[in-house]
Amino acid sequence: MKNLLTLFLTFFILSISASVSAQTNANSGISSGPEYQPFLKQVADDVSANSLETYIRTLAGFDNRHTMSDTTSDTRGIGAARRWIKVEFETISEACGGCLEVFYVSGEVGGTNRIPDPVNIVNVVAVQRGTADPNRVVMMSGDIDSRASNVMDAEIDSPGANDNASGMAGAIEAARVLSQHEFPGTIVYAGLSGEEQGLFGGEILAEYAIENNWRIKGVLNNDMIGNIEGVNGVINNTTARVFSEGTRANETEREARTRRFTGGEVDSPSRNLARYIHTMGHQYIDNLDVMMIYRLDRFGRGGHHRPFNEVGFPAVRIMETNENYVRQHQDIRVEDGIEYGDVIEGVNFDYAAKLTALNVVTMASIAMAPSPPAGVGIDGAVEPSTTLDWDALDPEQNPQLEGYKVYWRLTTSPVWTNARPTGDVTEYTLENIVIDNYYFGVASVSEDGYESPVVFPGAAGSFGE
Ligand SMILES: [Zn+2]
Repeated sequence: MKNLLTLFLTFFILSISASVSAQTNANSGISSGPEYQPFLKQVADDVSANSLETYIRTLAGFDNRHTMSDTTSDTRGIGAARRWIKVEFETISEACGGCLEVFYVSGEVGGTNRIPDPVNIVNVVAVQRGTADPNRVVMMSGDIDSRASNVMDAEIDSPGANDNASGMAGAIEAARVLSQHEFPGTIVYAGLSGEEQGLFGGEILAEYAIENNWRIKGVLNNDMIGNIEGVNGVINNTTARVFSEGTRANETEREARTRRFTGGEVDSPSRNLARYIHTMGHQYIDNLDVMMIYRLDRFGRGGHHRPFNEVGFPAVRIMETNENYVRQHQDIRVEDGIEYGDVIEGVNFDYAAKLTALNVVTMASIAMAPSPPAGVGIDGAVEPSTTLDWDALDPEQNPQLEGYKVYWRLTTSPVWTNARPTGDVTEYTLENIVIDNYYFGVASVSEDGYESPVVFPGAAGSFGE
């Protein structure tokens, strides 16, 4: 009797789970990202909190990196800071046999609210050229400049240890780690200037990128990656935020009309770059949850990913979860027993290392993978099946290409849940998967299993050519 009952119960449970999975196999909630790569874990582990500490202390030690500060001193001001950053990149390059092109990208800005008199805005850029596709770029940026309470005060001390020596140091450390390896795609490490005065350095570098035919597939802008003590009393070193725009800043009215009918409000290339970073965090960075924030940036505040978005490049902001306004944009002082100022004591180097490692694995993975597919289209209205098609990738630029992978998810799911490899084709049909009920996308896959970000069909999701 007991055996019969067990048998019956087992059969009953099996039939339930069979029918449930038949219902939900297209939305099981199972994450379906790229395969695990030991190499990516290795480069994540190579990021050193000690070396970040040295970089951040040096940058904060210039005391003042205001955009209009002194440029002649070797010990104080933004001139000293940018020359030091250039030398650091050059030193890293010497260690890899000259694998980095290091140079300034600058432009004069004046007659604006925060820069009344003309000043030279100078970015420091290091380019690690890809071996197969030298103009396909993934970039990590931090900022060189700092500010105190009064954004126009170019004289007072503004060490900017967290805002944003931490992000700048992260970019230098990423160069140190990744320059020891070769990649098919190009990686750019950038120090941007003029951020606090109106995002000018990013605008200047975005223009330079267009003029030099860089096909930027992702900008990871790091702005404040070292504070773990929130102004709200929360102390937390296990989460990070990635801000991304939902729709492309430069979409045309016509593209917006198409999007209204077929979707894409939450699938800009920047948003799918954020999903990619989220997956990388889960796979390679222990004790870190990436909080995707479906918003361009924080309320009323800016960052250097924005000028890249404005000309159509996928770009996100990576930063700490818990900000401390007592330590941001403040003159160093004690008031009512509260210590104000963006000083070195407010930076947690282990945490900055975790966020730098998140950048490092993301860039290594994108630079290893083939280019994200272009020309992605989708069909299937009033049909039982959904068909995706895309342009074949250039085999010379993508010798590592093995094929593609089609992804889909429920329209309310924040992450891609289902995937199927297609082989090296340019069209694939998901039989009996109804187009209306899911969002779809396609990624490219290398022979070693590295994957590009997922590209949502049409102009709404395009990562460009
Ligand atoms: Zn700031």
